[in-house]
Amino acid sequence: MCGIVGFTGSIAAQPVLIEGLRRLEYRGYDSAGVAILQPEGALEVVCRKGKVSELEHTLSHFNFKGTCGIGHTRWATHGRPSEANAHPHVSCDGDIAVVHNGIIENFAELREELKAAGHTFRSDTDTEVIAHLLEEAFKAGCPDLTAALSMAAGRLVGAYGIA
Ligand code: GLU
Repeated sequence: MCGIVGFTGSIAAQPVLIEGLRRLEYRGYDSAGVAILQPEGALEVVCRKGKVSELEHTLSHFNFKGTCGIGHTRWATHGRPSEANAHPHVSCDGDIAVVHNGIIENFAELREELKAAGHTFRSDTDTEVIAHLLEEAFKAGCPDLTAALSMAAGRLVGAYGIA
């Protein structure tokens, strides 16, 4: 059972996300990661296999100032526990980061469809299809994330939570 945390506000997201992940540690996990939107618009993604304390140590070298972010502790269901399979997972253009709790049952067919459409996958997870589906939804003209998520979710089969 994994954990998801999200934050947006007027203070740095990094320590808030780490504290959130610490509070979720009791649920069990194999890896952890965060994505933080930096003030200049870059989306920074940092993942580590192992403990939240290792992620925290790595993040201490960056000390990101962004005030909006998501975090995840993973319990692998699709793809072995590894840094490459740790969440967040991102779209090809790096503009969309996704953390996900649960299973996308139809991920294999979606993955093939998205690969055929030119998407490159960087992990073995079911989760990664969500980031690419969102990218496709924006390409199809969705005006905002709510509309894109609605379109993408219409393709997903399974029980899940997403940030
Ligand atoms: N199915 C996803 C994965 O294997 C999410 C697992 C979870 O809920 O932590 O990465």
